Amino acid sequence: METLKLPGPNARKIIERDHAVISPSYPRSYPFVMDHGLGCEVWDVDGNRFLDFAAGIAVNSTGHSHPKVVQAIQEQAAKFIHISSDFYHLKWVELGEYLNRIAPFSEPSLSFMTNSGTESVEAAIKLARYYTGRSNIIGFLGGFHGRTLGAVSLTASKPAYHKGFYPLMNGVVHAPFPDPYHPLLLGRDGEDYGETVIRYIEEEILYKIVPADEVAAILVEPIQGEGGYIIPASGFFPALRKLCDKYGILLIADEVQAGVGRTGKWWSIQNFGAEPDIICAAKGIASGMPLGAMIARKRIVTWPRGAHGNTYGGNPIACAASLATLELIEKEYMLNAAEVGSYALDALREIQTRHSSIGDVRGIGLMIGVEFVKDLKTHVGDDELRDRVVDLAFERGLLTLGCGKSVLRISPPLCITRSQIDHGLEILEDAITNSEKGY
Ligand code: PLP
Repeated sequence: METLKLPGPNARKIIERDHAVISPSYPRSYPFVMDHGLGCEVWDVDGNRFLDFAAGIAVNSTGHSHPKVVQAIQEQAAKFIHISSDFYHLKWVELGEYLNRIAPFSEPSLSFMTNSGTESVEAAIKLARYYTGRSNIIGFLGGFHGRTLGAVSLTASKPAYHKGFYPLMNGVVHAPFPDPYHPLLLGRDGEDYGETVIRYIEEEILYKIVPADEVAAILVEPIQGEGGYIIPASGFFPALRKLCDKYGILLIADEVQAGVGRTGKWWSIQNFGAEPDIICAAKGIASGMPLGAMIARKRIVTWPRGAHGNTYGGNPIACAASLATLELIEKEYMLNAAEVGSYALDALREIQTRHSSIGDVRGIGLMIGVEFVKDLKTHVGDDELRDRVVDLAFERGLLTLGCGKSVLRISPPLCITRSQIDHGLEILEDAITNSEKGY
């Protein structure tokens, strides 16, 4: 298969200039310098074309520069770009109404608009503390919730997110995530692994570390993203809901990566038979315009005027982009995510039969993880191989991203077609074959 010489001369120059003036803290997976994009394809500044299996980490849900999203942004920009959150405007209200209609609660909701995922999580933490009058929050190992101090304190996917930033927020305890491929806890006979984790939370955390009546919330990604695209054991969510109800603890679902149609349902927790009390959204909600939302059951949003706010929340352009995005997802792309996602999953499982380096292929809809291992029995991850596959795929014209220790994530725009999946997987398999050979 033909490979590109990357980075090209134009990309090289821009990267050099970037290094001179931009903070070095950004992760930067590989030297892709974007020029423009359309649908599921992107072009770099040297004219190289790539198929996009990353979508800016699950953000470009309707593809790059969808004409309807562009039109909504242009029309709104021509009317007004900003009015502070001290005032009102129609698009903000319309978005609130839309989110209320699609929120995963069997009762009305209220939304607080934010500018990012981490800000949605901060809002959820503050609301949970405010409503319950309790301080502590339980999170999960491998969880990722953002990088502001509250959210990063609940993040537990890499020590790099904490290194040099202590002291973090007080009142945080982490439990193992119910990862069936890497179980940390010993289950009892006949017990689903998800129930084992809940038993651990109740018997070890609530009875030994933090009193249940001082726990405000349990914060969980229904499918862990940054942690490795991990789908929880099936008994987990029903048991978690029961535990929360038993102790008056709020259940917060961080849907920033997995939500907004990516799994074929509006919210990924809807795949697991439990209703949360609060959800945190961002990323795919506005096709790449910076918008997030903390959506909560109306009856728990008891904080008064002035308790929480922001300058840009409910930005009219972001709201207009979000309304256009949600309509496209509802009419077309959510179903596409389910159908094309299951097609991609089957194709990847077939590829897995030809590669002993692939330990696990898992996913729901268009949130798919491919885990590379050194040993099929012990499941020890092969991060070097995974990194190599990501790099070789890039050289072959496919954008992917890693996550977890040794997982490659596939999170394309939700409008991707079967033939684009075929093309991308052909590149991916070539990258895997060559990586296994040590190229
Ligand atoms: N929560 C989850 C599940 C995420 O995946 C992310 C970002 O990757 C965040 C929160 C933080 O979002 P942001 O980077 O927009 O602050």
